[in-house]
Amino acid sequence: MSKCICPACQETFTCLSAFDMHRVGSFGEPIYAHSKSGKSRRVIGHTPSTRRCLSESEMGAKGMASNDKGWWMTRPSESHWTEDEEEETVFSQPTS
Ligand SMILES: [Zn+2]
Repeated sequence: MSKCICPACQETFTCLSAFDMHRVGSFGEPIYAHSKSGKSRRVIGHTPSTRRCLSESEMGAKGMASNDKGWWMTRPSESHWTEDEEEETVFSQPTS
């Protein structure tokens, strides 16, 4: 079973799609300058990157859920997780 740990927020994700889901915002769009003829353009800069991680409550609002290990998945109770019940760990969620 592969998993992803986000280098930015240290959350663990059961799969890449769950990881992708918690990253939002733009990487930064190129800003073009057009020549007078309008035939060519060149990149003169980039808009600032707004790429960030969703908070736990935002992930929950997106329909994502964390399992008993605290790993995030794209939706509650994915079949491959309900299959294996190895250890009973207390599900804890920080209260805010
Ligand atoms: Zn993250």
